[in-house]
Amino acid sequence: MNLHEYQAKELLQQFGVAIPKGIKVTSQQEAIEAAKEVRHGGPWVVKAQVHAGGRGKAGGVKFVRTIQDVEEVSGRLLGSTLHTHQTGPEGVKVHQLLIQDGVDIAKEYYLSCLVDRSTKRVILIGSSEGGMDIEEVAAKTPEKILTLTIDPTAGVQPYQARDLGFKMGMGKKEVDQLVKVVTGVYNLFVQKDCSMVEINPLIVTTDGQVMALDAKVSVDDNAIYRHKDTAEMRDPTQEDEREHIAHEIGLNYVALDGNIGCMVNGAGLAMATMDVCKLHGGEPANFLDVGGGATADRVSRAFKLILSSSKVKAILVNIFGGIVRCDTIAEGIITAVKEVGLTLPVVVRLQGTNVEAGREMLAKSGMNIMAADDLTDAAKMAVAAAAK
Ligand code: ADP
Ligand code: MG
Repeated sequence: MNLHEYQAKELLQQFGVAIPKGIKVTSQQEAIEAAKEVRHGGPWVVKAQVHAGGRGKAGGVKFVRTIQDVEEVSGRLLGSTLHTHQTGPEGVKVHQLLIQDGVDIAKEYYLSCLVDRSTKRVILIGSSEGGMDIEEVAAKTPEKILTLTIDPTAGVQPYQARDLGFKMGMGKKEVDQLVKVVTGVYNLFVQKDCSMVEINPLIVTTDGQVMALDAKVSVDDNAIYRHKDTAEMRDPTQEDEREHIAHEIGLNYVALDGNIGCMVNGAGLAMATMDVCKLHGGEPANFLDVGGGATADRVSRAFKLILSSSKVKAILVNIFGGIVRCDTIAEGIITAVKEVGLTLPVVVRLQGTNVEAGREMLAKSGMNIMAADDLTDAAKMAVAAAAK
């Protein structure tokens, strides 16, 4: 789950990282009042709060010098849809703004924290090239990407942070402040079960202060039950509507760009199903794992979720009845179809416990269902049906 910039900054501040003064607002009037409180006489920066980076280039971060401009820019941004290189063509809705102190930047750096799979450790990444697309820096000038591997028992050592700072080209005064930033970022990452903390840019102001000017935090959904504070930061308006519904009913669902709706039990089988679809020239519309202990009700809700997308042109159901029984799955599908109607072709591949009963129920249901015995056949049928 991603957090907004203002939420990420609240967390960073709790962990001792300096941030510019800022207030989150949801209306033009609040924006004007916030500006007066943040910095008398300005300048300010009005920042769209959306779950996407690249806002600056897309017009979602505006430097303003007068209260009239705060009013004008916030009026324009609130309620608008922002399209950045990370959002896709549908963009993201702007409901909240951050009115921030417009600081004088001397230099922009980059700092992030994540888990490195190859070393199985938490690492920090630093770079002198802040404020830019870090993937581009890594591709063009990999020597400017510096990594710091943290020993889980020892935690961040101050000498490591100093070493990183000097290699990033910071002077002594900045490096002293960086130690606090690096320690704070690492502690936030570990204590709040984050999957990513990114500060881009981390800046040095003209009067020598190191602070986080932008922040992105993603928290691990699987650990969110341990963190009431971050759980409450969820903003459903920024999430794919179907992903949000799926989350509410406890399904593992990821929306994708293709047109074959997939309903599968087990994450591994779901991935294999998507692979086989692609192998035969199809594009999955989603990843969906209904789970091992799926009930008829869950299956029915999952099926409705798939049907609610206008992208979907065919549905592929691939179930291995191990813990879950095939007749339960059939019952769920029939219930869902009765409730919402079905105009799309459905290919079903059932195997495992009570498979005969399940197939018979589907055959007797009068629904237009194509039965397949193995996954390759099923995928080919679904790809052909979606292409019609
Ligand atoms: P994004 O990464 O989504 O484009 P940022 O918050 O990084 O958004 O803002 C883009 C750029 O705008 C920054 O690199 C910085 O140069 C400038 N900027 C952002 N916030 C401020 C601020 N409070 N004061 C001055 N400049 C800012
Ligand atoms: Mg940024």
